[in-house]
Amino acid sequence: MSPKKDLRLDTIAISVGRPPHGPDAPLNPPIALSSTFHAGGGVGYGRYGNETWSALESAIGAFEHGSTLVFSSGMAAISAVFSILPIGAVVTASHQGYSGVMTLLGSLHTSGKIEVRFVDISNTEEVLTALPGTALLWVESPTNPTLSVADLPRLISAAKAQGCGVAVDNTFATPLVQQPLLMGADIVVHSVTKYFAGHSDVVMGSLSTADPALLARLEDARKFGGGIPGPFEAWLALRGLRTFPLRFERAQESAMEIARRLSAHPKVAEVHYPGLPDDPNHVRAASFMKGFGAVLSFSLHAGAAQADKVCESSSVITYATSLGGIESLWERRRRWANESVSVPESLIRLSVGCENVEDLWEDILQSLENA
Ligand SMILES: *Cc1c(COP(=O)(O)O)cnc(C)c1O
Repeated sequence: MSPKKDLRLDTIAISVGRPPHGPDAPLNPPIALSSTFHAGGGVGYGRYGNETWSALESAIGAFEHGSTLVFSSGMAAISAVFSILPIGAVVTASHQGYSGVMTLLGSLHTSGKIEVRFVDISNTEEVLTALPGTALLWVESPTNPTLSVADLPRLISAAKAQGCGVAVDNTFATPLVQQPLLMGADIVVHSVTKYFAGHSDVVMGSLSTADPALLARLEDARKFGGGIPGPFEAWLALRGLRTFPLRFERAQESAMEIARRLSAHPKVAEVHYPGLPDDPNHVRAASFMKGFGAVLSFSLHAGAAQADKVCESSSVITYATSLGGIESLWERRRRWANESVSVPESLIRLSVGCENVEDLWEDILQSLENA
């Protein structure tokens, strides 16, 4: 069943990707465990399609207003985008962002497959200057892990006016906050691992586009690149996605409260959260985003060792990487060798989950006390 066009996202999350109604028809799609299919249909083989993927794809597609392809991970989806660029194509991308993408772009650049122009994505003039000759503008906003905000409406319209493609990693914001295809972007990327699946039990990615020719090229990149998800993982992700709006709204509300309290804490040097009125990204974010997300980061008046100690001291918040799950996670980002050196050593990224905000705050207070 495809949803009526005017449904709101929280209703779409619950109603899309269901099998056709009928007596004794199941409410949920089956987990289609089959590597091959009886001849004569449109799919044929398990690397080309699967009805459990299709159910999940219809839900993500309805969120993002495009057609969607799911992949074995966010990075597999992202690799598929870069794989369809011609050799030597110019990509303009943020110099700070998800570290896996930074590493991938760096190696594609070094090996000469593409030429990457690294820019400060929140500095609109710098991005506009880099655009001439760019084949693809790669935007992650808000950025990992310092929550910088790109002027998406302005960057997308400037890029499209020059015939430059635009891909937006919408993992942090989610479609509840911004819908880049509606602003004119060509591709929206998600690490489904994060908010959509939402329970830290699945690794998966997706690409969405409203351009049928581009969709066909990306689908070929999945077919022949081979980065396909398992049907069971697709089913789990769809099950998680049913509650994504509920989880996200709760987490976002708590993130705002925690950001506010952290910015008044004497051990905290700086809080990065675009929802804070004095955050340098706030005015821009408020001008086009419908919320500020549920990830924040903060640095301490202390070094790496004490920041590590804070992360190790929590009992409600889990010390682990990743984000977007129902459980709150935090970590010191520079513990990873491939994190940007522009990120402060003591910066802790906190993915706010759905626990009671007072329990989270008490846990943060006692952890800061310990350091
Ligand atoms: C996690 C993440 C990715 C990579 O996704 P995986 O599912 O881990 O492969 C890409 N972009 C952002 C913003 C992420 O948070």
